[in-house]
Amino acid sequence: MDGLIDPGTASAQIDLAAFRANIGAVAEVATGAQVMVVVKADAYGHGMLPCAVAARQAGASWLGVATPAEALALRAGGDTGRVLTWLYGPEEDLVPVVAADIDVTASTPEQVDQLARAARSAGIVARLQLKADTGLSRNGAPPAAWPELCRVAAAAERSGRARVTGLWSHFAAADEPGHPSIALQQENFRIAERVAADAGLDPELRHLANSAGALIVPDARLDLVRIGIAAYGIDPAPGVAALAGVSLRPVMRLRARLANVKRIPAGSGVSYGWIWTAPRDTVVGLVPLGYADGIPRQAGNRAEVGWRGQRVPVRGQICMDQFVVELGPGADAEIGEEVVVFGPGDDGGPTAEDWAAHAGTIGYEIVTRIGARVPRVYR
Ligand code: PLP
Repeated sequence: MDGLIDPGTASAQIDLAAFRANIGAVAEVATGAQVMVVVKADAYGHGMLPCAVAARQAGASWLGVATPAEALALRAGGDTGRVLTWLYGPEEDLVPVVAADIDVTASTPEQVDQLARAARSAGIVARLQLKADTGLSRNGAPPAAWPELCRVAAAAERSGRARVTGLWSHFAAADEPGHPSIALQQENFRIAERVAADAGLDPELRHLANSAGALIVPDARLDLVRIGIAAYGIDPAPGVAALAGVSLRPVMRLRARLANVKRIPAGSGVSYGWIWTAPRDTVVGLVPLGYADGIPRQAGNRAEVGWRGQRVPVRGQICMDQFVVELGPGADAEIGEEVVVFGPGDDGGPTAEDWAAHAGTIGYEIVTRIGARVPRVYR
């Protein structure tokens, strides 16, 4: 399925120099903390392995992924550095993960046991990081369950099955300055640290901050920051990077060549359902990307694309493989001309955040959903 559109026709250009620069810019404000670049979900749609290599070049001592399979894919791709995984089911075989020297997160005593069993089978000491739920109510042990998780982890350490290398948690709203959850989660994390110490644990790493935390919650940077969206050049929320004095460069530029250009008469219905009818004779162009490629259907008839340094509107519904843009009544456009669906925004075209606003979502979703059919071209 990888790249089943001709790269000349449409591609997602990935600017790895911008990616490295973004990582460097966040690392500079988070001085003193190690950097984990989060490359889960195919590096938020940017391609996991090339981004992993570039992240290491930019100084990331850690890579973060959701699933053990993603961690193993990093190893298969040649990455030998520190990797943390945090999401798996009770039946998953962790033996290859432990054998590949990957740090595995446990949120429950059962997960510590699952990992300890894998360590026994692999004949090595597992690297274990404990996750506290400090207020997101997602994964992690909530305060009442934390002492038991620490007790079980300490027992696994004493038995020689595991070494607790980290304690960590995840913010709910670090991108909203002054949100009450921020201080509460930090306080809960401090309590979790004390309980872990009382259980005899002394992990080398404590970490809490995502991109927003790394950028604008200085006392949450701790030993390591886990940055995802900022590395890809997208602001965690409008104004967050600016608050930290950081300027991010969007890494993905989604471009395509017009597959057709035609003049349509006033009154022509455009695309499925005719939700837009041309009010005048005009010229339309056909962009060969659709919702199968991750172009959000909700942005139909609302979003814009860049053409010749200006923005032109999407007309009618986004289809599975294509959508129509209006180039204007006097346009002398030609088939094969390039349009920018989204990109850095400095070329007159829209950004992923612009598309997100039209689709009622966030920039994270726009880039992550760009499908496997779209070739990634690295530069
Ligand atoms: N840490 C964890 C556990 C995550 O799940 C994510 C992404 O959702 C991140 C860090 C990175 O977050 P962000 O992309 O907001 O920097």
